[in-house]
Amino acid sequence: MHEFNLIQQYFTWDNLPDDISIAVGDDAAVLDLPKGQQLVTSIDTLISGVHFPENTLPSAIGHKALAVNLSDLAAMGAVPKWFTLALTLPAIDTEWLEEFSEGLKSLAQQHQCFLIGGDTTRGPLSISIQVMGFVGQGRALLRSGAKVGDKIYVSGTLGDAAAGLQNILGELALSRDDAEFCQQKLNMPTPRLDESEKIKTFASACIDISDGLLQDLSHILKASNVGAILDLSTLPLSPVLSKLGNKQIRQFALSGGDDYELLFTVPESNEALFLEEMRNKVSCIGHITIECGKIIDESGKELSTTGYNHFNDS
Ligand code: ADP
Ligand code: MG
Repeated sequence: MHEFNLIQQYFTWDNLPDDISIAVGDDAAVLDLPKGQQLVTSIDTLISGVHFPENTLPSAIGHKALAVNLSDLAAMGAVPKWFTLALTLPAIDTEWLEEFSEGLKSLAQQHQCFLIGGDTTRGPLSISIQVMGFVGQGRALLRSGAKVGDKIYVSGTLGDAAAGLQNILGELALSRDDAEFCQQKLNMPTPRLDESEKIKTFASACIDISDGLLQDLSHILKASNVGAILDLSTLPLSPVLSKLGNKQIRQFALSGGDDYELLFTVPESNEALFLEEMRNKVSCIGHITIECGKIIDESGKELSTTGYNHFNDS
């Protein structure tokens, strides 16, 4: 199959909305920009064996490649609109491409985020997606807005994806159902766009958790010049994670990667209204303190913030 046919068959999608004048097929895409909005854009690359285990289903790879990017827009309080796809393939495998594009398309359709172009090359499997979306002028949710006294919240549950990865690597024994649950969280993360829509009205700062709660929290703390106290007994855990030993729970929930939950701060004055809106979709896990960059637990012990680091070989 020729590259042009490949693009035509798997990555040229129908029923594009009117704000896309030109999508796949010309030298570049041509798009209408809404008035009064700011463009928010982000790019993430997934490399086989680094960002997903080599035997991951192609549909899950397609899903995850877009999901991690949508998660970044959710963390900014932005609504996704379009994305481009740079795909490097070792060979043309039509079955793989069919399943990959189905996984990608199904998540894209769910969020009305449209593929407008890309690039296709040959080499070791790698997928880069750049996503574009919009936020009202001056309304982007930044890492730098946390203030002393703000409450720290997280969506969903923590550590399931890390447990799923350890299970795949043969380091953690789980029952069949539990393994399936954790691997689903690892391979098919849900970008928290619906939650972001609501959170953005109330939050002072936000980040998505990709490299572990502590490491990602430390980014908010540094950007905002504040510290944090966490009550570790309030970490939201799935029934599967709750069954593990305390040490493992802490490891996965605090430092495990790939959660793609939102971690954000809410000023106390907004908290009552916020909780009315969100009910039990979020958990309060601590609050912001004055001690810049420092994270302590409820007993005052300092927590180390090292999570996943691509350049750390040890
Ligand atoms: P050029 O050589 O001008 O960069 P390409 O052959 O790379 O052209 O791309 C032709 C068209 O196909 C462009 O509109 C490009 O955006 C699109 N395209 C290429 N690869 C992909 C892909 N993997 N997914 C979506 N669109 C793609
Ligand atoms: Mg090109």
